[in-house]
Amino acid sequence: MNSSAPERPRPRRRSSTVLPLPTIQSKDQDQRKKFTAEETKLWEKLIEMDEPNITSIQSSIARHMATTLARTPFNVDDFAGYLATAHSVRDRLIKRWNETQEYHTANDPKRVYYLSMEFLIGRSLDNALLALGLKDKYKQGVKQLGFTMEDLIEEEKDAALGNGGLGRLAACYMDSLATLDYPAWGYGIRYNYGMFQQKIVDGFQTEVPDYWLNYGNPWELPRLDISVEVRFYGYVDKNYDSKGNTKYTWEGGQMVQAVAYDIPIPGYNTKNCINIRLWSSKPKKSFDLESFNEGNYDKSVGEQKSAENITSVLYPNDNHMVGKELRLKQEYFFVCATLFDIIRRFKKTKRAWKEFPEQVAIQLNDTHPTLGIPELQRVLIDEEGLEWDEAWDIVTRTYAFTNHTILPEAMEKWSVPMLEHVLPRHMMIIYDINLFFLQKVEQRKPGDRDLLNRISIIEESRPQNVRMAHLAIVGSHRVNGVAALHSDLIQKTIFKDFVDFYGPKRFENKTNGVTPRRWLHQCNPLLSDLITKKLGSDEWTTKLTELAKLSKFATDKAFQKEWMDVKRKNKEHLAKHIEERCGVKVNPEAMFDVQVKRIHEYKRQYMNILSVIYRYYELIYMNKAEREKQVSRVVIFGGKAAPGYYVAKLVIKLINSVADVVNTDKEIGDLLKVVFIPDYNVSIAEVIIPASDISQHISTAGTEASGTSNMKFVLNGGVILGTVDGANIEINEEIGDDNIFTFGVLAHEVDDLRHAVRYRKLPMDPKLQKVLDIIYSGVFGDPNVFAPLLYTLQNGGDVYLVSVDFPKYLETQAKVDSAYKNKDNWAKMSILCTAGMAKFSSDRAIKEYAESIWNIKPCRLP
Ligand SMILES: *Cc1c(COP(=O)(O)O)cnc(C)c1O
Repeated sequence: MNSSAPERPRPRRRSSTVLPLPTIQSKDQDQRKKFTAEETKLWEKLIEMDEPNITSIQSSIARHMATTLARTPFNVDDFAGYLATAHSVRDRLIKRWNETQEYHTANDPKRVYYLSMEFLIGRSLDNALLALGLKDKYKQGVKQLGFTMEDLIEEEKDAALGNGGLGRLAACYMDSLATLDYPAWGYGIRYNYGMFQQKIVDGFQTEVPDYWLNYGNPWELPRLDISVEVRFYGYVDKNYDSKGNTKYTWEGGQMVQAVAYDIPIPGYNTKNCINIRLWSSKPKKSFDLESFNEGNYDKSVGEQKSAENITSVLYPNDNHMVGKELRLKQEYFFVCATLFDIIRRFKKTKRAWKEFPEQVAIQLNDTHPTLGIPELQRVLIDEEGLEWDEAWDIVTRTYAFTNHTILPEAMEKWSVPMLEHVLPRHMMIIYDINLFFLQKVEQRKPGDRDLLNRISIIEESRPQNVRMAHLAIVGSHRVNGVAALHSDLIQKTIFKDFVDFYGPKRFENKTNGVTPRRWLHQCNPLLSDLITKKLGSDEWTTKLTELAKLSKFATDKAFQKEWMDVKRKNKEHLAKHIEERCGVKVNPEAMFDVQVKRIHEYKRQYMNILSVIYRYYELIYMNKAEREKQVSRVVIFGGKAAPGYYVAKLVIKLINSVADVVNTDKEIGDLLKVVFIPDYNVSIAEVIIPASDISQHISTAGTEASGTSNMKFVLNGGVILGTVDGANIEINEEIGDDNIFTFGVLAHEVDDLRHAVRYRKLPMDPKLQKVLDIIYSGVFGDPNVFAPLLYTLQNGGDVYLVSVDFPKYLETQAKVDSAYKNKDNWAKMSILCTAGMAKFSSDRAIKEYAESIWNIKPCRLP
């Protein structure tokens, strides 16, 4: 440096120019206050809450209104009323939550950890009040304060951190785990943007971001003191320990912080209140003080932005894999933070590692959290110093895996180069897991190279892929499907080689269930009250087998009338909703025919709307006398298509185009109405489901693993029109052939039929051809718009066998019509539907998991 040059004042360089971000680090045990007995007593006395009465409820709401929300009585709307009420309820939830955690820590039972990328929770206020047994008191309390409970409940935004069935299943299971007093945790991701909101513009779906946290979320507890560092990218260093053994360490790369947000999940009729811990990403890269001091404020802040992206948005694809790097990072981010948390909790007990599987059960909700398998192996061998075999034994005894689909496009695969780049050490471990596994396969079946190719965790494609389902099976002690047919199919098809290798004992069925608290008690208060009145108790809410006692009243005329009066009121309620949301007036006297679920080719909403067109043309060509004999129908659709799923979006457009024509046809009037209810989500499901006469679950046989909305509908006295698929089959077994309408090809026939459709170009069913001709004629607008959709049925492309099932579908629709004319018999069917649903409670499903997979026992608070 030129010594004569004048020295410019510079910020002083220090060896460390970065400061940690201002987050509160986990407090050490010994930093905690040690209160005297007297102080402890005072605390306990102050924390104790009285059994609430209306006055204390009102004062807690008013206090939150004035302080938490800083509102005066002159500045209050329903939303503020909701928030103040929610905060008042939250206080009580947190208390139960604390007591539960304390009790579990003291008793240290084996815990189950339910790992799921999605929790489709919906609203919480009504659910929390039901669980706390405070519905009536709060209702009266808010009424005197000038609110109605129904309005306040409507103000809550759904927590829509899931796509559909898989995420809702996780939410139902958390409800049952809490209610059955199991020591359980849910772990997932706190997406800033949940499932997009669907708007219909000119008949097309458009997506609007769901910034659900905009107005705050009273149902979560930010735990800024609980944070975990997560590494991405970097490199693997090879070293040797004192004994000369190879040691690998993962270093460098990018660090991101995972911060915990806890959602208390109260059990019903119990003090047990469990936790869903959702991780949110924060930049770990420490704040660059030097850069800041040099005036690069925007740069030093900007560098942190990239880390914030990881938990920003839920991928909106249901049953479809999209291989984006950000999604892979989400999966690892959540699994890494979760394992750290589980291990930290285990270590507090000072047990030996070999006891880990006796204290911890981890359930993988589909393959999305499968990286937890190599992650646990990595921690055990790289950080805890265990030998490979010892570690691998712990891993496999800890994990169990639930498969949710056999659709090939849904199977998770990650390219080896991408995995190597993002998670270099995990890729090495996966290679080793695979090597040791394939060596055993080779030992058992020497020289069977085809088998090795099929069963390998690595797919020998270009580039190579990691088959996540294979990794999940090899790393688990149990694998289950979600309905009897599905569990059978996976064992005979996609996982057959694994069944041959491991034997059938590793594979089980756990038929899905839904929680009767939300899906009957909460969503259908009128029917709940009627059932409770008839059975003389509300025991059915936790013991669904009680519903069987309704069957003896199925032919009781007076009861049938009461039952159908409830259905009528629920239909009127939905009709009001439809008028507000779709601007269509529907007649509650008509049959309400509902298909609400994600829009997907395999679910065949397309077949449904084609049959609606057929029905419309039949009506058009009828004379007056014939028309008068017809049953009026309101055909109701709802559901979101993945934003990039072009054909599914065209189905929505077709439904809306048909609706425009049919609903304005004065000649047809109430005989047929078609509505598409926008933005299907949990809270709208709670309005739609209690109002259905018939609901459609018409997937191509073998494609719908279970379905859960079929269970919700039947529980609410709705009859199914469905295929012989998923849980429809078991519902049929429970309620009997007289109370369900089934049709269509069977799962074992599908392969041959697909082949025939593809190569032999079966002649098109004339009725279906007629419908296609009508669309081509332009009645529903420019047919070019629909061409790609129409094309899926032609030239051998009908993979989902719409053209094969269509004639039987129409015949069965006609049977539904004539059955609906016999009102008494329809009432009987409806009652027997509800009465036969005991098996489909998520309580039953959770007990099965607890007993045969997790080996955990209830831990009930005194
Ligand atoms: C139950 C439920 C589902 C699952 O419906 P399926 O018909 O089983 O696919 C999807 N979305 C919501 C909002 C649900 O409540």
